[in-house]
Amino acid sequence: MPIYTPPTEDMQYLLHEVMQVSQSDIPGYDELERDFTAAVLEEAGKISAEVLAPLNTVGDRQGCALENDAVRTPEGFKSAYDQMCEGGWIGLDADPAYGGQGMPYLLNTAVGEMFVSANMAFNMYQGLTHGAMSAIHVHGSDEQKETYLPKMIAGTWSGTMNLTEPHCGTDLGLIRTKAEPQADGSYAITGTKIWISAGEHDLTDNIVHLVLAKIPGGPDGVKGISLFIVPKFLPDADGNPGQRNALKCVGLEHKMGIHGNATCVMSYEGATGFLVGEAHKGMRAMFTMMNEARIGVGLQGYAQGVVAYQNAVAWAQERLQGRAVTGPANPDGPADSIMVHPDVRRNLMHQKSFVEGARAFAFWGAEMIDRAHRAEDAQAEAMISLLTPVIKGFLTDKGFETTVLAQQTYGGTGFTRDAGAEQFVRDARITMIYEGTNGIQSLDLVGRKLGQNGGQAVMAFFDLVKGFIKENEADEELKADFLDPLKAASKDLQEAAMYFMAEGMKNPANALAGSYDFLHLFGHVCLGLMWAKMARASRAALAAGTDNPAFHETKLATGRYYMARQLPATALHLARIKSGGDRVMALDAAAF
Ligand SMILES: Cc1cc2nc3c(=O)[nH]c(=O)nc-3n(C[C@H](O)[C@H](O)[C@H](O)COP(=O)(O)OP(=O)(O)OC[C@H]3O[C@@H](n4cnc5c(N)ncnc54)[C@H](O)[C@@H]3O)c2cc1C
Repeated sequence: MPIYTPPTEDMQYLLHEVMQVSQSDIPGYDELERDFTAAVLEEAGKISAEVLAPLNTVGDRQGCALENDAVRTPEGFKSAYDQMCEGGWIGLDADPAYGGQGMPYLLNTAVGEMFVSANMAFNMYQGLTHGAMSAIHVHGSDEQKETYLPKMIAGTWSGTMNLTEPHCGTDLGLIRTKAEPQADGSYAITGTKIWISAGEHDLTDNIVHLVLAKIPGGPDGVKGISLFIVPKFLPDADGNPGQRNALKCVGLEHKMGIHGNATCVMSYEGATGFLVGEAHKGMRAMFTMMNEARIGVGLQGYAQGVVAYQNAVAWAQERLQGRAVTGPANPDGPADSIMVHPDVRRNLMHQKSFVEGARAFAFWGAEMIDRAHRAEDAQAEAMISLLTPVIKGFLTDKGFETTVLAQQTYGGTGFTRDAGAEQFVRDARITMIYEGTNGIQSLDLVGRKLGQNGGQAVMAFFDLVKGFIKENEADEELKADFLDPLKAASKDLQEAAMYFMAEGMKNPANALAGSYDFLHLFGHVCLGLMWAKMARASRAALAAGTDNPAFHETKLATGRYYMARQLPATALHLARIKSGGDRVMALDAAAF
């Protein structure tokens, strides 16, 4: 049975020593005192390790079943879900006006990482609800907010997002689902949506589908898309689930991973829907949900890396094979643990330095979201908009890679089912695909975000890195191990951005062919910055005579590994980018 240990110590370190959250000027952050966050993280860790993690294998083995129009979730999911509701976890950061606890998104991110590491498929039921709540909160009418939000925040109703159709996923301009206006102001929704996560299940009293559809006669393409609330049961006069709506789940997908989450084919057969926001402005409303969901998927990617890494370490400590090149480390045993071998260490250091850097990056992104929303800071909004595709694409690609490295640590056992390592690989794989494939994230980054407002956000990012380096370069050890490598990597990123500006104008294929490398280059610089920040905090703690020097020495050694062995990847990405589009587009389609 795989293990899961909530990384609360590392989270507390990030919140209080690296980010110093309780001293922040972001409204609400003054509540995030050390004892308070410790108590919340401990509780979330407990439910993750004791309730959710034991159901991870159960969910994978049993999967979901469609019986008539109803979907049965794996054994134990309903009881675990009820415990999540009772604990108030679903509305942790939701608006108190509708029953939420109003906590910062940052705290929700920390807690969410634990839930996802423990059981990603389970956590998706409430994850989708969270995105749907945000879209209704920002774009819904007062009446819609009052009808849906309290129940969704309490968890008694859940939410979904319905974009994809059989003939279109990326290119949503092609959607065919129709929304015909009715005399009472509602719409009749007709069409088929596929791969709808949590589209049907037995965990809640009602399911609130957010559906993209086209009102006949509207503009073509994405400009003609509107967003609708289409509840499974129409709320009655008292707001309780009333008449069954004309929609149903007509099939479940058989998937590579996340078996515990129902991925549904949904059929809408003239179902009653209610317009959210303005007609034909559905993509804008959906983007509220998608941006949040993209950051959530980035979190899923590295969170699977976290749990995979923990299990790989446990295995490496126990497995006896071979002897250390420097002489036996376990002379009384038949062999040494595989921990002694430099190649196993390389593998584990790669995993550790990624997941801890990724956690810092995700927390920083969450802080930016709080600054953007709570302090209404437009610069923070622009920065998180720039970094959203990086968080989604880089953290899921590398998160998946981490699960594969963890599987490799096991040798053959990693390929068999019992150790659980292969489930982490299978579950992590989808994060690179849904919420817009990582290829599409890189196009969003290079094609839309990079040049937005004359490139202001990326310039602000470069200034931020430059400022951090300048502020700290008097510390020679920090400079040599962290700031100089960060400077070199950031220079690669700037050179790539300049290349796109100069060459992309002449030939767009030059920019598009290099966009994936650019996303990775950017991700590495972000993690390099995170490691430099953590190194500064740990050096300060050691200088101040911390009572936990081992923790900080470990941080510094892990960070040095990232800077020396992962960050230099930026040079390779830059070289690929500068090779341009011609190499990539050299063959005729028929030559493949
Ligand atoms: C398990 C699972 C759960 C899902 N959950 C949901 C859900 O809850 N709600 C929902 O609406 N959808 C959901 N999806 C759908 C998911 O978001 C899409 O599969 C995804 O966005 C990609 O769309 P597609 O599969 O149609 O691929 P396509 O759009 O057909 O793309 C195929 C390939 O072409 C590339 N490509 C496409 N267009 C371009 C372009 N212009 N430039 C460069 N490359 C391009 C893509 O990157 C991809 O590699 C889910 C899918 C799965 C498998």
